[in-house]
Amino acid sequence: MADEKKTKVVVVGAGPVGALAALYAAGRGHEVEVYELRGDLRDPSTVPLNFTKSINLALSERGINSMRNAGKPGLIDAVLGETIPMHGRMIHGSKGGELYEESQNYDIHGRFIRAVDRAGLNKRLLDELDNMPNVKLIFNHKLVGADYRRKKAWFEKRRDTRTDHAQNPTQEEGSSKDASEIEISFDFMIGADGAHSAVRYHLMKFSRMQYMQEYIDTLWCEFQISPSSTDDFKISPSHLHIWPGGDFMFIAIPSLDKSFTCTLFMPASHFERLDADPESIIAFFNQNFPGVADRLISASDLRKQYGENPHLPLISIKCTPYHFDSSCVILGDAAHAMVPFYGQGMNAGLEDVRVLFEFLDSHDSTPAGRAAALKEYTAQRTPDAAAINDLALRNYQEMRSDVKSPLYRLRKYVEEK
Ligand code: FAD
Repeated sequence: MADEKKTKVVVVGAGPVGALAALYAAGRGHEVEVYELRGDLRDPSTVPLNFTKSINLALSERGINSMRNAGKPGLIDAVLGETIPMHGRMIHGSKGGELYEESQNYDIHGRFIRAVDRAGLNKRLLDELDNMPNVKLIFNHKLVGADYRRKKAWFEKRRDTRTDHAQNPTQEEGSSKDASEIEISFDFMIGADGAHSAVRYHLMKFSRMQYMQEYIDTLWCEFQISPSSTDDFKISPSHLHIWPGGDFMFIAIPSLDKSFTCTLFMPASHFERLDADPESIIAFFNQNFPGVADRLISASDLRKQYGENPHLPLISIKCTPYHFDSSCVILGDAAHAMVPFYGQGMNAGLEDVRVLFEFLDSHDSTPAGRAAALKEYTAQRTPDAAAINDLALRNYQEMRSDVKSPLYRLRKYVEEK
């Protein structure tokens, strides 16, 4: 009997969601090609997406379960082995000039979320893909056009990927003077190319997509707390630390090297005020995030990091449908970028992959079967993703303010009784 023609799956974007989607597709025997705009993340010269350094994320059951089901027995142990359990949040403040910390456990049964390095997790997934004979990883290729009826796509082959998207994420990704274009064909394209997705942009020309995006009036800036002089964590590694400021907040998440990756979330107008008077940064921190300046980050480092690290926007995206016919689907931030306050953006994107393949597996592998699966996927996933998106927006109020109010604690106490 002649060999059945393999389904050619093209994944756009080799971030955590695209890499996991490629693993799921390759595990089903498809011929998989992954196209990534940037260079290989594992190459130290590659500028990471949006971030100056690596960023720490909260990894929860949603994401863990999706990696557990990737059909790669060693993967989840390797990923979890590089995480730090966070059993609760630690609220920091001062009363009568005295610093205080208050631990609030996430769960009365001791369950926890985990701190993970986004780049480390992404590298693990790429390493798994390297070992699969039916996967090709193609870096420095940017999707610039797609026709989902003819199942053709065009990629710009790039020599120079140094343009820093972080400085202006709304700008067209750094187009290179040395680019040349290639045409490819596919049976099924999975768009996992992030919040500013080109797959989604072209999908809008084929499906009657409802689309909504919102930039919230908050920017974020990253800081680092280095390990102590005795090479230990300076504060508890078992917590996600929060300095609630009412309209803004400062948080810290532990890293394996005993440092903390911290984020200042604040309205743009507050950033403008501090930008206009850089000397006021230390006083601002002392007033609003007591115990950070000098004790955890030296005043000079605080000024330097505030000045050098980008102040980045936060976008929330909802759209539907996520697919066109049998030929294209978008996943992760490309489908539902969300603000980070619920710690679920990547987790929900990884979950998209598991849910999508459940639908695909429940149909035959013909184009008609795939079209039916994608339709069901959009129908189920749109309201679920929108709900997580809304919860993420609402949780900002909780983290920056409600966590310290006595009413909040009373309500929690009553809920737990
Ligand atoms: P991305 O990570 O954006 O990856 C998309 C990939 O596609 C990139 O590699 C990009 O280079 C590539 N690409 C883009 N355009 C093209 C193109 N035209 N052609 C080819 N390739 C292209 N999530 C959590 O779950 N927990 C957290 O605690 C958490 N904290 C966060 C904190 C902050 C400050 C921020 C900003 C986000 C946080 N998130 C968190 C969200 C999380 O980072 C994202 O949800 C996640 O990275 C999305 O993964 P993705 O693979 O869908 O997209």
